[in-house]
Amino acid sequence: MPIATVNPTTGETLQTFPAHDDAQVEAALARAADAARSWRRTPLAERAAVVARAAEVLDADRERFARLMTLEMGKPLQAARDEAAKCATACRWYAEHGARILAPETLVDDAQGTGRVILQPLGVVLAIMPWNFPFWQVVRFAAPALVAGNVGLLKHASNVPQCALALEEIFTRAGAPAGVFQTLLVEARRVEAIIADPRVAAATLTGSEGAGASVGAAAGRHLKKVVLELGGSDPFVVMPSADLDAAARTAVTARTINNGQSCIAAKRFVVHTNVYDAFLERFVAGMRALKVGDPMDAATQIGPLATAQVRDDVADQVRRSVDEGARLMCGGASLGGDGFFYAPTVLADVTRDGVPAREEVFGPVAAVFRARDLDDAIAIANDTPYGLGSSAWTRDAEEMRRLEGELEAGSVFLNGMVVSDPRLPFGGIKRSGHGRELSAIGLREFVNVKTVRTA
Ligand code: NAP
Repeated sequence: MPIATVNPTTGETLQTFPAHDDAQVEAALARAADAARSWRRTPLAERAAVVARAAEVLDADRERFARLMTLEMGKPLQAARDEAAKCATACRWYAEHGARILAPETLVDDAQGTGRVILQPLGVVLAIMPWNFPFWQVVRFAAPALVAGNVGLLKHASNVPQCALALEEIFTRAGAPAGVFQTLLVEARRVEAIIADPRVAAATLTGSEGAGASVGAAAGRHLKKVVLELGGSDPFVVMPSADLDAAARTAVTARTINNGQSCIAAKRFVVHTNVYDAFLERFVAGMRALKVGDPMDAATQIGPLATAQVRDDVADQVRRSVDEGARLMCGGASLGGDGFFYAPTVLADVTRDGVPAREEVFGPVAAVFRARDLDDAIAIANDTPYGLGSSAWTRDAEEMRRLEGELEAGSVFLNGMVVSDPRLPFGGIKRSGHGRELSAIGLREFVNVKTVRTA
């Protein structure tokens, strides 16, 4: 994939960027290794201050950063502003809570002496990131990593190079010393050689299953720690006691957030047969009412998909679903023109072995499944290779208890949609990856948990 800004609203290539050559990558690795040596010795309060200043830079230039995101990947401008603001919140959270999370802990204190745990940085961490939340995915790695004393090398998705460069600018303006956070403009095929480099201690990837398998294999070959945040096909379970209006309204947002391109978007709607028709009617009406258009326009709710490839993949998945017998309730077509638009789509009566049950659909396409009872709903919800988030709607306490315990996912949101929050761990099981981001648990993924025994 060429490294380029292609406006998904118009299909126009605005700017291409030459990939960094081997000498530039070597120089960046050398700078990172140097920076790692001094950054780990920099007092935690100073590291936290840099991350707190990154929040100020994000706030000060929010509009410019938001426009870059929208230009390169098509999310509605207000959503891009919100994303920049959320990045600032996460920076502030880690700046404030880093010292508490990293505080040494005494686990043993007896006649033999003390046994303590101290948390130390691993060193240079390579972050391979996707385009869908081009700032948030990076900041939720970088803020805790830098506070912990690691340094970051970013290999961003090839279609968001200006966002990638802006992220380096943010940390530089925040006062991060040279080499503490650098952007590499490199193609995916060069990732393994960087992971293999002895100066790189660990890697983290947010992206598709295929990229996860490839980066996980490379990390395994070179025995490096890796965190993988991969795809999802989150269920959204609706039981008869649910507030149907709220559930249907939230379902529309949960499916179409970020133009439908979110790992934690609700993708499979598993609805109890007693409320199936009532939910479907409300849900389809909500999906039909969405305003699709130029994401820079304040009235737009759904912009284009990020690339022609994403749009074509979604169109192909819908076609195959309909061929298999799914009922097309609305949408089901690209919207023509030079931009990469696809209409909000609802597929009803999807079967348990249908395309949307087996594959992640990364666009504004909802698949609705009918469940006989709670057991059936949980079975359908879990019948997926993925296990990222899940949402369930019921006012019955016993059903809540069962759903919380039995849904196979990294998170369960009861009567709400799945969202990420710096204060709470985020990640998946099954083919959605392993490891966690955010909260104290996310920060501790990239530290050496060192045991110190003192007699
Ligand atoms: P992608 O194609 O996997 O790309 C993600 C990143 O990995 C990009 O930087 C890409 O570089 C790189 N990459 C791709 N193949 C690679 C390989 N074989 N070796 C090394 N690096 C490789 O994913 P995407 O299309 O950008 O993003 C959508 C996917 O991300 C969806 O599956 C979504 O669910 C998932 N996602 C997961 C989370 C989560 O937290 N679990 C969050 C957001 C998105 P190039 O651009 O140069 O190819």
